[in-house]
Amino acid sequence: MPANTYDLLVIGSGPAGQRAAIQAAKLNKQVAMVERKAVIGGVCVNTGTIPSKTLREAVLYLSGYRMRDLYGASYTVKENITMDDLLFRTDHVIRHEIDVTRHQLLRNHVEVFSADAAFVDPHMVQLTEADGRGSRLVTANNVVIATGTEVTRDESIPFDGERICCSDDIVNLKRLPRSMTVVGAGVIGLEYASIFAALGVRVTVIDKRHRLLPFVDAEIIDTLAYHLRENRVTLRLGEEVSHMDLVSDTLGDHVRIHLVSGKQILTDTALYSVGRTGATSTLNVSAAGLTADDRGRLKVNEHFQTEVPHVYAVGDVIGFPSLASTSMEQGRLAACHALGVPATSVPSLFPYGIYSIPEISMVGRTEEELTEQGVPYEVGKAHYREIARGQIIGDTSGLLKLIFHLETHQLLGVHIIGEGASELVHIGQAVMAFGGGVEYFVNTVFNYPTLAECYKTAAFDGVNRLGLAPTDTLSVPGAAA
Ligand SMILES: Cc1cc2nc3c(=O)[nH]c(=O)nc-3n(C[C@H](O)[C@H](O)[C@H](O)COP(=O)(O)OP(=O)(O)OC[C@H]3O[C@@H](n4cnc5c(N)ncnc54)[C@H](O)[C@@H]3O)c2cc1C
Repeated sequence: MPANTYDLLVIGSGPAGQRAAIQAAKLNKQVAMVERKAVIGGVCVNTGTIPSKTLREAVLYLSGYRMRDLYGASYTVKENITMDDLLFRTDHVIRHEIDVTRHQLLRNHVEVFSADAAFVDPHMVQLTEADGRGSRLVTANNVVIATGTEVTRDESIPFDGERICCSDDIVNLKRLPRSMTVVGAGVIGLEYASIFAALGVRVTVIDKRHRLLPFVDAEIIDTLAYHLRENRVTLRLGEEVSHMDLVSDTLGDHVRIHLVSGKQILTDTALYSVGRTGATSTLNVSAAGLTADDRGRLKVNEHFQTEVPHVYAVGDVIGFPSLASTSMEQGRLAACHALGVPATSVPSLFPYGIYSIPEISMVGRTEEELTEQGVPYEVGKAHYREIARGQIIGDTSGLLKLIFHLETHQLLGVHIIGEGASELVHIGQAVMAFGGGVEYFVNTVFNYPTLAECYKTAAFDGVNRLGLAPTDTLSVPGAAA
């Protein structure tokens, strides 16, 4: 193979690109990866998933939030928490993740280029070094586009990265604001709203929609809204921002947000979080024979092939579900397909984790979806307060909800809000994947005391609601107790 020709060229070093590159390297192929940022890891490691989750952990620890049920609302581990306190931990984890990833790529002989990639033709890509020092051409038999997304910016908004910022700027905030207004109540907006509210920042959330996160179970959302309000978050739903100004007056520097309804909100910091656009604008995809949609996204088939069969696209650049978890799997499967290795498709059953405070996680269908689809179901619930572990860890407001088929008892959905939700959900996911029913939880012995016990309590609750003697359906003594 001539120099600078690869079996697989991966554009982008986020979770989707990494997994594609590593998978191809494991198949003993010549692999190159190109990343335009000075550091590898993508949005996931540098500005998105990892920083936001680490910031959340730092907030929960330093604010003593988890222990407030036990020791009172004023309990805190550290007084006067600063952004430096919070970002100390974030920086440490980011550095470690970058290091681990770089080492993994090196170990697997993936050639990493620090450059901006743009197609010259369907097999040839120009790599321009970040500081404009030079460029080179590389060719590849297969190309995986894993360029992710960029924050969608409204040109009329005077972003300054501190008072009016986007989620990418959070890791660079110099001081903790006294008040924050989050524009856009999507997952990212709500995660940051609840994180800052837990620190005592006065948070307002604005969204055009009348309901938070419509894809999440309504009861779980009611619980989230209750907690947000308990933490003094003001929810302004059904409201739209008309414009916002940076203001400096006798009160200091702040932002004035004007709503279409005529209301005005004065805030220390505005976090603009209304979505992300596929990072294809500089990729010259037309030279590869591709067209991105109006949100910069690329269309793929079930094997992640674009209209040009040897050019694949994976991760956030192809849109839904836009999660690090699914992006990794897409990258791996695309590499397998490109290199002729049989692979399954991404499982349709995957969990969502929403790292608000409290945490939410779900797998399967919601009550609303099942009702719409005319599927008869029953629900079983367990509140953390009923479970010894809930009392021990001081989370007495968590809720785990099972949804199962009325006749077959097959598990159809698991919805959790509370400590450990994003870990607990995998028990339900496994049972669902194997077509299991609510009986599984009734018949299983869980460690005690654990939050996992919620599954058993919820299963009994559900069975009791069916009004059947346990032997009719479950052959488990005590099921209807
Ligand atoms: C605040 C926030 C929190 C999140 N939390 C979660 C979470 O808790 N769980 C979860 O599963 N997901 C979460 N996500 C989503 C997750 O980060 C993304 O799904 C994931 O990063 C997508 O991976 P990717 O590889 O497709 O793209 P990215 O991680 O965006 O990586 C793409 C890379 O491609 C590079 N690139 C782009 N264009 C070019 C070019 N022309 N040449 C060279 N390189 C290029 C970019 O610089 C970037 O490094 C979060 C996102 C955000 C913003």
